[in-house]
Amino acid sequence: MGTQLNSIESVKEYLIDKGINPSFQRLKIYEYLAKTITHPTVEMIFTELAKEIPTLSKTTIYNTLNLFQNSGIVSGLTIDANEIRYDPETRVHAHFKCFKCGSIFDIPVEPSYADMVIAEEHEVKERHFYLKGTCKNCLKAIET
Ligand SMILES: [Zn+2]
Ligand SMILES: [Zn+2]
Repeated sequence: MGTQLNSIESVKEYLIDKGINPSFQRLKIYEYLAKTITHPTVEMIFTELAKEIPTLSKTTIYNTLNLFQNSGIVSGLTIDANEIRYDPETRVHAHFKCFKCGSIFDIPVEPSYADMVIAEEHEVKERHFYLKGTCKNCLKAIET
């Protein structure tokens, strides 16, 4: 994680620091994203959090994720044409998607490589680097 957010208190401080009013639902949504490495979809976030927060709606999750994106603390990955996956890691990194199992892995990127893209006067809030192929787990399964 780019940010060490292991308690609800530190998530609260982080959101306030980013100018976001830390409502209970926003805290829970960010906390879930921060502890989930699979880059969940709205559907996955809803399924997981609705168990704990029965009043939570998908609309609230969409609106919250939009707010997080506009604040630059979450990015929306469109590596898959059918769904958006959400990522709280704000350091520049690439994503590798496996054609076989559909897993999405974080891949480190040299900051100097990311800097090579000149945005001129535009204000950049997200940078995306997408790689696709067969993941190491699926490659191992083929070998054996
Ligand atoms: Zn795979
Ligand atoms: Zn990522």
